[in-house]
Amino acid sequence: MDFSWTDEQEIWRKTVRDFAQKNITPRVREIDTNKKIPDEIIKGMAKLGLLAPTASQDYGGAGVDWTMACIAAEELGRADISLAIPVLYLVEASWGFIFSQYGSKELREKYLPKITSGEAFCGIAVTEPEGGSDIVGAGKTKGVKKGKNWILNGEKIFISGITESTKWGGIHLTLARTDPSAGHKGFSFFGVPLKDNKQIKTSLFEDMGRMGISTGGFVMENVELSEQNLIGEQNRGFYYAMEGFSAARVLIGATCVGAAEAALELGKEHIKTRKAFGKLLGSFEGIQFPLAEHYCNLESVKLLNYRAAWTMDKMYKEKKASHYDVALAAAMSKLRAPIYAFGVFNEVADWFGALGYTKEFPVEMGIRGVRSYSIGAEGTMNIMRIIIARELLGKEFLPY
Ligand SMILES: Cc1cc2nc3c(=O)[nH]c(=O)nc-3n(C[C@H](O)[C@H](O)[C@H](O)COP(=O)(O)OP(=O)(O)OC[C@H]3O[C@@H](n4cnc5c(N)ncnc54)[C@H](O)[C@@H]3O)c2cc1C
Repeated sequence: MDFSWTDEQEIWRKTVRDFAQKNITPRVREIDTNKKIPDEIIKGMAKLGLLAPTASQDYGGAGVDWTMACIAAEELGRADISLAIPVLYLVEASWGFIFSQYGSKELREKYLPKITSGEAFCGIAVTEPEGGSDIVGAGKTKGVKKGKNWILNGEKIFISGITESTKWGGIHLTLARTDPSAGHKGFSFFGVPLKDNKQIKTSLFEDMGRMGISTGGFVMENVELSEQNLIGEQNRGFYYAMEGFSAARVLIGATCVGAAEAALELGKEHIKTRKAFGKLLGSFEGIQFPLAEHYCNLESVKLLNYRAAWTMDKMYKEKKASHYDVALAAAMSKLRAPIYAFGVFNEVADWFGALGYTKEFPVEMGIRGVRSYSIGAEGTMNIMRIIIARELLGKEFLPY
């Protein structure tokens, strides 16, 4: 066992950190207020290979492995504590990967070079008004074959990147039932372009955090797609979705850790300089003990997280781990990271006193941003617990 980084990993971390600290960190408040990631940042990320970096190099991706993808996620989280840019990054890194693995040649050629160069967006659309956690039981979106084409009807909701997709173009990998009698084996994945599509009506939510990236929904009425828009094999969509969710959960862990590390750094600087009762705050046990606890929590989730990335690399590169191994490792990381990160933001806000409650101070953006991941983006905490219990007890103990 070796806990050190390779030279390549060190250089990658430094490259991403230098870019992100210089170009992103000074603009986070502006991004949060204007609700938009500036074009120059998108272009800079594209230049560094940070947009769908896990996609094949044949289509403009960087073909990075999951440990490298996590390093970049951690650095982007550290730079953008609001988590807007990390969300853009991790959604495209995980779902761009699924698209790159399973999409038809024609669809990949059409969209992936644009996605990796920041001219198109790649998102995920699984959730429906009546089916979030229980998409298998309650999902109503249907895909029906008409000649060689597919007709999609249904509604998707709480979907990240609606504005990005409708403005830039691109696709949302969209889950639809194609064999209603087959349960989870009756779903297929489709690449659905939202831009300029008259059969699609989009809507937006006003989120509480990660304001630089949009969340919304779309209704599909007789959306006609060519057979090339089917992702992978018909009726394998649920499996592709689970594969993408595991990847996203690992990257979420890394972004939450990065953002919380940044907050802890800010907090440490403050308690080393601010005085109360004639002493530096950092010399009080009541401040030191939570600092030690939170540092320890972050280190433990970081280890869980990089072990999950390592398990993914074992699976994809060496076939020495299974999708179940990855799902378990990813669920553990997603269960812990947003909670531990939230704990850090909350604590550091306390250390700053009244300033911690103002927008003069960035930690409130972290509190708002990270909450999206403990509420449910890419799977709720109870769903993580169900996955972990399933792996510990066996499928026969699934509660549904
Ligand atoms: C900011 C944000 C962005 C998102 N982006 C996307 C996106 O891009 N694409 C996409 O497809 N979805 C997206 N989602 C949706 C997300 O995947 C869902 O919110 C999530 O799957 C939960 O679904 P739900 O909101 O309908 O909650 P529900 O499924 O209704 O769950 C409500 C509560 O009940 C609990 N619960 C449900 N079943 C059980 C059970 N069996 N046992 C115990 N507790 C249970 C849940 O844990 C949760 O606490 C996003 C969500 C957010 C908040």
